Amino acid sequence: MSPSERAGAVLTIDLDAVRANYRALKAQLRGGDCAGVVKADAYGLGMERVAKTLAEAGCGTFFVANLDEGVALRAVLPEAAIAVLNGLGVGETETFAAHDLVPVLNDLGQVEAWRRFLASRGPRPAILHIDTGMTRLGLSTPEAARLAHEPERARGIPFACVMSHLVASEEADNPLNVDQLVHFRKARERLVPALGGVKASLANSSGIFLGPDYHFDLARPGVALYGVNPTPPRPNPMRNVVRLEAKILQLREIDRPGTVGYGATHTVEPGQRIATVAAGYADGIPRSMSNRGFGVIAGKRVPLVGRVSMDLITFDVSAVAPEEARPGKTITLIGPEHSVDETAREAGTIGYEILTRLGRRYRRQYFGG
Ligand SMILES: *Cc1c(COP(=O)(O)O)cnc(C)c1O
Repeated sequence: MSPSERAGAVLTIDLDAVRANYRALKAQLRGGDCAGVVKADAYGLGMERVAKTLAEAGCGTFFVANLDEGVALRAVLPEAAIAVLNGLGVGETETFAAHDLVPVLNDLGQVEAWRRFLASRGPRPAILHIDTGMTRLGLSTPEAARLAHEPERARGIPFACVMSHLVASEEADNPLNVDQLVHFRKARERLVPALGGVKASLANSSGIFLGPDYHFDLARPGVALYGVNPTPPRPNPMRNVVRLEAKILQLREIDRPGTVGYGATHTVEPGQRIATVAAGYADGIPRSMSNRGFGVIAGKRVPLVGRVSMDLITFDVSAVAPEEARPGKTITLIGPEHSVDETAREAGTIGYEILTRLGRRYRRQYFGG
């Protein structure tokens, strides 16, 4: 038995579903271009495999968070446009150039640094990020006004696009969406003297579903590619990508009243059966799922009982036939029958966090691609 076969839990990533999700998002854009956001190791699913799959599906532009991710992705995709969201750090210009990476310029200092660099090295594209309400990264409103009045600050930079990021796009009725759209359009118009008729990018996954006004030239979906619902509370239009199955290590037939796990937070009675499964908070199962989560075995939902511990969780499998819930059988923790979104709700978090915390001890297997 190889170490990977011995693993207590198996994480299966469906690359065919990633590809189908990319195509579905692209179809929504009706001719507009669609990038792939693959930061944080493609939301925990493995940047190399995911990025190759997206490139084969026709994706030509990728976004990562930081420079190291950009350098790693360049080694995988020699041809793609790769943009780095966290911006151009001090002393990083040479590394950006050496790996042909596109900096997202987040303030006037970064614009200045890139302009100076290009003055000696010739034109290389950048993206200009305008803050329209996130108050995180991007040019502030006064900075954008300054650039509009002093267009020479950006002279010689071939901008691939101007972008902004939506703060509440998964809430279709939130008035902030329209506010940001208006803000973005105005900022783009005012910046024509500095940037010319530059392309624009606003929508993340959920932004795509706010309608064509939000599409501009390039969309930047991440989480929807990986199967998380971009349109809550409506049904999920995306295909499920992740399946996580954990082995039952031991089955306890309860013969006297007792409690389960640390802190004795769950009581059991004779006749109940408790299955102990090989995954815990060290594998990214949130401890907040203690006494709140569910798994699925033999088509039945079974409650997670007791505390999530570091390497183990426990389920009450009393409702499942004994031959279906014995050591060696697996319980599905995440899959089409118990989605990332449901898992996140039970844990009091969001699908993004569930995905990006998926652990390193799972046997990872890829399907399709
Ligand atoms: C992460 C990120 C995205 C992708 O967002 P999703 O909600 O995962 O689609 C797009 N743009 C920016 C600036 C981001 O940081």
